[in-house]
Amino acid sequence: MSAKVWLVGAGPGDPELLTLKAVRALNEADVVLVDDLVNEAVLVHCPQARIIAVGKRGGCRSTPQAFIHRLMLRYARQGKCVVRLKGGDPCIFGRGGEEARWLREREIEVELVNGITAGLAGATQCDIPLTLRGVARGVTLVTAHTQDDSELNWRALAQSGTTLVIYMGVAKLSEIREQLLAGGMTADTPVAMIENASLPHQRECRSNLTAMQEDAHNFQLKSPAILVIGAVAAYDNAKRSQPAAATEERWNANLA
Ligand code: SAH
Repeated sequence: MSAKVWLVGAGPGDPELLTLKAVRALNEADVVLVDDLVNEAVLVHCPQARIIAVGKRGGCRSTPQAFIHRLMLRYARQGKCVVRLKGGDPCIFGRGGEEARWLREREIEVELVNGITAGLAGATQCDIPLTLRGVARGVTLVTAHTQDDSELNWRALAQSGTTLVIYMGVAKLSEIREQLLAGGMTADTPVAMIENASLPHQRECRSNLTAMQEDAHNFQLKSPAILVIGAVAAYDNAKRSQPAAATEERWNANLA
């Protein structure tokens, strides 16, 4: 049997946002290595597979990446169909690129399967169009969290005219705010902070660049959450539920 590893995106949480291709891969899998932030509900599609949790929530306090690499390699070389299941999309802050390269260097066939990334899902769940004619000409996905000391070009981001979607930003709100203000982004730029996007316990907090840190604190914003920064973050559908009390006043001011 040919050795093969599927690197599969499980989407943001809502099991209905899984792709048909992901379902097929899960169905064929002998072994599924499940990452953090994957909703367990999607595992109904692989009842016969051995499930190995390799994320913090699986009980192992953050499985080392090298160990995950070796596990995938070992099972693939045994001829097993291996699925590496990741939250969102495997190649958006998901190490899909690294893992694919590492496996291919060892002659393992790899197939990547898209998932809906949390940033896109979170915005859509809140009726925020990430691009909008005349308002946002593009969208930039960015993480505030780097492993090395490399600096983001905040000025370029602040002035890009695109909607910013920031991953892993909850612990970095102060830095994000300071840097974007320093980079020339206007203080009243709308911000939406979306926690647990697409899950039943999803919460959203609307704010603006100046107030985002204080509002997030009052809202007790927790990870996983994404930040949407830009004019489109003030969009909403009037039918939707009221914004959180902490930001209600400011939100009304935004609408006025
Ligand atoms: N590959 C994933 C991202 C992994 S990085 C994807 O494409 O979505 C982990 C970060 O993703 C979290 O810190 C958070 O910023 C974001 N995230 C993942 N799932 C989320 C969810 N359901 N709601 C909000 N943010 C989420």
